[in-house]
Amino acid sequence: MKKVIAIDGPSGAGKSTIAKLIARKLGFDYLDTGALYRAVAISLIKLGLKEGASDRDIEAALQKTDVEFNDGHIFLNGDDVSSEIRSPEAGHFASVFSARKPVREFLMKTQRDSAVNADIVAEGRDVTTVVFPHAFKKFYLDASIEERKKRRSLELISKGFEVNEDRIRQEIIERDARDSGRDIAPLKKADEACLIDSSGLSIEEVINKLMGYIRDN
Ligand code: C5P
Repeated sequence: MKKVIAIDGPSGAGKSTIAKLIARKLGFDYLDTGALYRAVAISLIKLGLKEGASDRDIEAALQKTDVEFNDGHIFLNGDDVSSEIRSPEAGHFASVFSARKPVREFLMKTQRDSAVNADIVAEGRDVTTVVFPHAFKKFYLDASIEERKKRRSLELISKGFEVNEDRIRQEIIERDARDSGRDIAPLKKADEACLIDSSGLSIEEVINKLMGYIRDN
């Protein structure tokens, strides 16, 4: 296993923007684990599964699912689904199906394999706690709900989606509750992770805080 910088936090806290920039600065690869969960969710929906599907049905569908994250792009059974996974629906179903044991087990190897031959910056919900418990540096990136709502809205608008800010706020609250309240690999701050609240900070200020911590600890 090479060096891993692991960043967890709730949706909209700025993890992907920050992780990508840190990876570029350090010459590490970037791993977006949320993209893997989103691609798997799309696959399960395409294969006809519903939210309450049995573990057996999920396992059978996963046999027909191949996901790969490569150079910032996510592939599902060989097709580039990098844009498709960004829809609010894909986010919703990713959060629903990621609470299921077969899905988490299915993606464990893919995530760990990405650090076998390359130093990586990985971001997600359980990369500091479960996937890379021995990561070289760990961060928990947070932000207020209002700030996350604003960022999520701007992100969706830039991708051409229609936005209702009250609905986005509600979805963030529901997603937090589901991701933090689930039995398996819930979102939580690892004791040894450095907490950074990005509310009111510019991207550059957040990067400086992370780089300072990486340098000094
Ligand atoms: O980070 P992103 O919003 O793309 O993640 C989508 C969903 O995938 C999250 O809400 C979460 O439920 C799930 N996820 C997870 N574990 C990870 C990354 C994402 O459960 N490591």
